[in-house]
Amino acid sequence: MNIELINICKIFQNELVLENINGSFEIHSIAVIGPSGGGKSTLLRIIGGLLAPDSGTLKIDGGKIEFNKKDLQKYRRNIGFVFQSKGLFEHLNAMENMLLPLVHAYHISKSEAIDISNRLFERFGLLDEKNKYPFQLSGGQQQRIAIARAVAIKPKLLLLDEPTSALDPEYTAEVLNMLGELQAEGLKTIIVTHEMGFAKNACEKVIFLADKRIVESGESAEIFKNPQSTELKIFLNKIL
Ligand code: ADP
Ligand code: MG
Repeated sequence: MNIELINICKIFQNELVLENINGSFEIHSIAVIGPSGGGKSTLLRIIGGLLAPDSGTLKIDGGKIEFNKKDLQKYRRNIGFVFQSKGLFEHLNAMENMLLPLVHAYHISKSEAIDISNRLFERFGLLDEKNKYPFQLSGGQQQRIAIARAVAIKPKLLLLDEPTSALDPEYTAEVLNMLGELQAEGLKTIIVTHEMGFAKNACEKVIFLADKRIVESGESAEIFKNPQSTELKIFLNKIL
């Protein structure tokens, strides 16, 4: 999958938040890193069709994404999302959380949806959790269920916005392991993360976004070994 960003700009309350974002990326697994407030979440939401840019063009495999309701509905069907936290419906148990999008948005029969969910629960060691409500689950379990739910629809692209940053450290590894496994088997992902080890070892490419623009991007091994810009050097020194 190729994603192309052409002069993307976004303004919030008269403030430029993304300034001429350009780049063409062959997506396997991309990590988006950078300081807080740099525009990472905004860019991810634009790529996912949740937010329209104020100017510029997003192309997927050469086709322009039109930011109107009808086209976006179709586009978003192929994209999975996982956010920092609070992604699960609190009043539904784990199984019901899985079934809701499959049955109501994707019109898969309930029995098939239950099968899909059970297979994912089993695969990721979540069978004992399937009747529990979010408040009965650890943060790590909640995020793994959110990821299972996002991949149950077989997305062409999975977008994750800091999926581990609200977790206690002991749960971070289990979530990242699950993601690494999914990536290794070919799931295309873009993840905003502060986990530099994961960006370096599990993601093929890195985009460093800071102060409204892509300062640097490239193969992850190269980015970490030979950061070019002063901004990235400073950022890595702070975080590593
Ligand atoms: P990051 O994810 O890198 O921390 P964000 O994309 O969340 O950065 O935010 C970039 C900038 O845009 C920040 O200054 C933030 O305050 C601002 N911003 C983000 N979303 C909104 C919004 N809905 N309304 C107004 N300002 C926003
Ligand atoms: Mg953010």
